[in-house]
Amino acid sequence: MKNMYCKILGHDYKVSRNVTSHVKEYTCSHCKKEMTTNSKGGLTVLTPKFKEINNVLEQIHNKRKLRL
Ligand SMILES: [Zn+2]
Repeated sequence: MKNMYCKILGHDYKVSRNVTSHVKEYTCSHCKKEMTTNSKGGLTVLTPKFKEINNVLEQIHNKRKLRL
């Protein structure tokens, strides 16, 4: 049971992608569950919808970086 560890000790999220300086994607190192930062600064499940939003955010963020 891979998820036993998470059920007992909680997920062990590691940053898997920096979308912007505020928004990050996390993956649990044990069960591979994916989370992301939501607009309120908390964590939420990384659904395909959020992945889409993050892709857009990343593009905007990268464009801004290029201009500076
Ligand atoms: Zn987990």
